[in-house]
Amino acid sequence: MASFDYLAAELEALKEQGRYRNLTVWDSGSSTWMELNGRKVLQMSSNNYLGLAGHPNLKKAAIDAIEQYGVGSGSVRTITGTLAIHDQLERELALFKGTEAVLAFQSGFTTNSGVLSSILNEGDVVISDELNHASIIDGIRLTKADRRIYAHKDMAQLEAILKESSHYTKRVVVTDGVFSMDGDIAPLPAIVELAEAYDAIVYVDDAHASGVLGKHGKGSTDHFNLHGRVHIQVGTLSKAIGVVGGYVACSQLLKDFLIHKARPFLFSTSQTPAVAAACLEAVHMLKSSDELIEKLWSHANYFRKALQDAGFDTGASETPIIPIIVGDPATTMRFSDRLLQEGIFAQGIVFPTVALDKGRVRLIVTASHTDEDLAFALERIIKVGREFGLI
Ligand SMILES: *Cc1c(COP(=O)(O)O)cnc(C)c1O
Repeated sequence: MASFDYLAAELEALKEQGRYRNLTVWDSGSSTWMELNGRKVLQMSSNNYLGLAGHPNLKKAAIDAIEQYGVGSGSVRTITGTLAIHDQLERELALFKGTEAVLAFQSGFTTNSGVLSSILNEGDVVISDELNHASIIDGIRLTKADRRIYAHKDMAQLEAILKESSHYTKRVVVTDGVFSMDGDIAPLPAIVELAEAYDAIVYVDDAHASGVLGKHGKGSTDHFNLHGRVHIQVGTLSKAIGVVGGYVACSQLLKDFLIHKARPFLFSTSQTPAVAAACLEAVHMLKSSDELIEKLWSHANYFRKALQDAGFDTGASETPIIPIIVGDPATTMRFSDRLLQEGIFAQGIVFPTVALDKGRVRLIVTASHTDEDLAFALERIIKVGREFGLI
C-alpha cells in the first residue's frame, strides 16, 4: 500500500531546523492594525503599500462590478472570460505604462510562468539574477532554454555571460525590478545598456515596484527613464495595487502571441469582474494623485534611517522593504515571536529563502501607517533589539 509516511519525517526535519510554520489566521482585513487572537497588532509585513486593499473607492468599484457583471467570469479569457471590464483594465494599464499593449493574468506568478514559458525555446538562453523571484525560476523551468545565473546585480558577470553566448538564437536577461527579500533596486540602466550592446531582450519583473517606483508608481522602467528600451515589463496587481492579479506590458505583437500561447491565460479562468474593476479603480487613483506614493516614500526613508541610527543592520534596503538582519534561523524566528508579543507583526524570513546567517525580519512600511504607528514600532523594535544584543 502506497503511503505518504515520508512526509512526516520531512516535516519533523523542518521543526528541528526551526522552519516549521503554522499559518497565521487574521480576524480582520488587510490594514495597519489587524486583529489576531483577540488582540490588535501593528502590521509591518504586508505588501499593501498604499493601503488600497481596504480603500472605500476600490470596495465601491468591486461592489458595483458585482452588481453589473456578477461574481464570476464564466470561463477562460478566450471563451466567455473577457468582459468589457477586463478589456478596459488592459487598455488603461497600457496607457498608464506607456506601452503598446498589456495582457492581464490571474496573478503575478502566472504572468511570469505564462510569459517565460511562451517566449523561451530550445536554442535560447535565459540569463537571470540569482535573487530573482520563485515564479521566474519556475517559469524558466517550464522551458527547454539553457539558463545562466549571475551573482546578485553583478554586471561584470552579466557581461561575461553575454560575451560567450552569441551562438544562442535568442538571449533574455531577466531581473526583479525591486528584490523582495532585500528591498534593493535592480541596476536596470546597466542591464539595458549591456542588453543593447549584445542584442539581448530585457525582462523586468516589477512586482514590488508597481505602484511604488517611478512617477505615479509606473515602475522601474519609468524610474530610470528607460521608456522604449525594456522589452517586457511584468507587474502585479496584488501588492501596492491592493487586489490580486498580474500583467505584462509589452508590444501588441507579443500580446497577440501570448494570447495564443500563454497557458495560464488559455487554461485558467480569468479574474473575477470585481477584481478587474477594483484594479481599474486603483489605476485611476494612481493617475490622479501622487499623495499616497509620496507618503509611502517619506515613511520608508524616515523609518529606515531611524533603524540604522539605532544601530540595526538593514542590509541593502533602498525601498519600503526594510529587512532587519538577525542571523541564524532559530534566533530570527524568536526575534519575530518577541516582536509579536510586543504587538508588532514582522515576518521572519530564513534559510533557504535567504542565506543561513542572513535570517531577517522583513518590515514593509506603508503609506497608511501613521507617525504614531511608526513611533510605536520603533520603540518596541529597539527594545527587543537590545534584548537580543542586535544593537
Ligand atoms: C510577489 C511577487 C510575484 C508574484 O505576484 P503575485 O501577484 O502575488 O502572484 C512575482 N514576482 C515577484 C518579484 C514578486 O515579489
